[in-house]
Amino acid sequence: MRAYLADPAETKKVISKYEFAFRKQYGQNFLIDAAVPEAIVRAAGLTKDDTVLEIGPGIGTMTQYLSEAAGKVIAVEIDKALIPILQDTLAGFGNVQVIQGDILKTDLAALIAENGGGPIKVVANLPYYITTPILMKLLAGGEAISLMAVMVQEEVAKRIVSGPGSKDYGALSIGVQYYADPEIVCRAAPSCFMPQPKVASSVLRLVKRAVPKAAPHDPEHMFAVVKAAFLQRRKTLPNAIAGYAPLGLSREEAAAAMEKMGLDSRLRGETLTLEQFAALDDALQKN
Ligand code: SAM
Repeated sequence: MRAYLADPAETKKVISKYEFAFRKQYGQNFLIDAAVPEAIVRAAGLTKDDTVLEIGPGIGTMTQYLSEAAGKVIAVEIDKALIPILQDTLAGFGNVQVIQGDILKTDLAALIAENGGGPIKVVANLPYYITTPILMKLLAGGEAISLMAVMVQEEVAKRIVSGPGSKDYGALSIGVQYYADPEIVCRAAPSCFMPQPKVASSVLRLVKRAVPKAAPHDPEHMFAVVKAAFLQRRKTLPNAIAGYAPLGLSREEAAAAMEKMGLDSRLRGETLTLEQFAALDDALQKN
């Protein structure tokens, strides 16, 4: 009979059998509540036609659910100590391929090409210390990924789904929403994990857009303007732009571009939509 790991007693059994020591630097908090992987599988809408990339399988807790719901699972785990454990816990799960490696250094385009070309889905209980670099690699890399269902810190999930006027709205909201439609699916209390993290978590569903939400002429430059706006979010937008040296723009140039768009130059960046940032960036570049 298969042993399912989303349970405190089963997880403890595996940990002690292998004398596994949790490594904080890898953000290791393993799931011990079956309701969470079930919710993640539902959020990803998995079918046997899907190929799934799992980031950080740990001891394989969620991998078991993914294996049963999807056609193929590719699981990339950085911690070498977990590889023999995964070979054991996933022994009866024939459609899982475990790869030892760092997801940030993994050639995703090659991995997807080797597995039918995609589009694939990404599912993960993310290591929180690298949430943003992982999300931005998956979103901005241009690879064939259709959807992501990921566990992140609750506070980060709120930032990602926020819009203008919210205190949580910022460069991360815009960076993610440019590429995807984000939605919070459910919350997971610290007691759903072993060891318990200090913060609550949320499952995010990100549906990747076929084309970005806005079409600035120079997306990289727009993201620099967004960065400037939120680095000094209490300042008016022209002052924040002038205060960010890499842009090389004066307060007057920024104010003129805003006025040309019909925007009050006393506004703060936190009130602008993504589309307005794109239009402002085009206006700034034409000045
Ligand atoms: N999926 C498991 C679960 O839900 O029980 C474990 C989740 S734990 C929050 C994060 C996992 O990501 C750990 O197994 C950790 O070793 C792994 N990890 C951390 N950094 C990684 C990286 N750069 N690339 C791949 N895996 C990583």
